[in-house]
Amino acid sequence: MLNIIIFGSPGAGKGTQAQLIAKKYKLVHLSSGEILRQKRGQGELGRKISLYQDQGRLVPNSLIIKTMDSAINHQSLTQGLIFDGYPRNLAQVKALARALKKHNQEISIVLNLQLNQNQAIQRILLRGQSSGRLDDNLKTLKSRFQVYRIQTAPLIKYYRNQNKLINIDGQPTIQTIFKEIDKILKKL
Ligand code: ADP
Repeated sequence: MLNIIIFGSPGAGKGTQAQLIAKKYKLVHLSSGEILRQKRGQGELGRKISLYQDQGRLVPNSLIIKTMDSAINHQSLTQGLIFDGYPRNLAQVKALARALKKHNQEISIVLNLQLNQNQAIQRILLRGQSSGRLDDNLKTLKSRFQVYRIQTAPLIKYYRNQNKLINIDGQPTIQTIFKEIDKILKKL
């Protein structure tokens, strides 16, 4: 089964490409950011999530790991999964491997979308005009990129050492990037 992680900084285009990949390869798209956003209205838990998201900080591992474990366990796992926004630190990497192993699954490939910070910021600010996302503003972005650099980017090396990492240029158009990804996935 094909289980993919789509990796990259905020604004690199993970969500957009994940949707296209999920559609073509019939995968279940699990976006951690989206799953958390859907819980924002839910009482104390929702308030906690909003607090972290609106400051551009990672929600605590205990919360996100439980949330994603449960999202995985809710799948029939007759289809592969594509993870978008998860994992974001080493504890999450380990938790994801454990959750998949329970179903005799593992990550097949990590697609690393590469885009420089200036371009990513431009895209997010543009998206912020229509997304309604409270974290798509300059102040929150600064901390989202800092969190990415310190906690998340080091995972690139981890997956490279496992021979699972493929770098993808995130600069071209959505369709050009998707064609590139499609070429790679077809060969698997
Ligand atoms: P982006 O990739 O553009 O930052 P996301 O929707 O993936 O957007 O994430 C938005 C916010 O949701 C993050 O800043 C963080 O607060 C929270 N979040 C998403 N995924 C995780 C995760 N794996 N661990 C902790 N917090 C997360």
